[in-house]
Amino acid sequence: RFITFEGGEGTGKSTQTKRLAARLKALGHEVVLTREPGGSPRAEALRALLLSGKVKSLGSFAEAVLFAAARSDHLRATIRPALARGAWVICDRFADSTRAYQGALGDLEPDVVKALEETVVEDTVPALTIILDLPAEVGLGRARVRAGDQAADRFEAEGLEFHEKLRRAFLDIASSEPRRCVVIDAQSEPDKVEQRVWQVVAGRFKL
Ligand code: C5P
Repeated sequence: RFITFEGGEGTGKSTQTKRLAARLKALGHEVVLTREPGGSPRAEALRALLLSGKVKSLGSFAEAVLFAAARSDHLRATIRPALARGAWVICDRFADSTRAYQGALGDLEPDVVKALEETVVEDTVPALTIILDLPAEVGLGRARVRAGDQAADRFEAEGLEFHEKLRRAFLDIASSEPRRCVVIDAQSEPDKVEQRVWQVVAGRFKL
């Protein structure tokens, strides 16, 4: 039972992943809440490097390889062991983020994105991917607020066009894989979004 959350900057993924984890825990399930890039000690080290700005001009291919390296360790050290013991795994970003950021927004060929993804993910494909969707202006506004009070990472200073492309990339993924992906409007209050997420999860897994 592997669930991933995807979406642009400022869509509320970290709030909603926490809330879903709490709900599942309240039902007595073991839940591993994790994130990408990161989610295991080595992958967190790669995250720090990737978001530090030190490797900013690497180019989409080299960047995607580093994200893939982080994902490979995350799968091996955290995700697969948890799934094997019957835990739920909820992950804040996963392979769709690479399709969007390094693929649609970068200049990486779709074939390369696909090959890397298949090599790394193998059969650990999410059973459900929730895409939190926001109009680009709203995402941009939220990202700017966030960048003001946190260490701003590489993309949070981007403009409207970037946020529009990002939104489109995630919506395209959703329409290409309608069985795995559910798009949820992330504009409403967190409580409402939480309810909608729960409806989807409870329906999908018959809870
Ligand atoms: O979701 P979170 O804000 O923690 O993600 C960290 C940053 O990593 C984001 O700004 C996102 O733009 C970036 N990222 C990326 N490529 C990925 C995954 C995340 O550039 N494949």
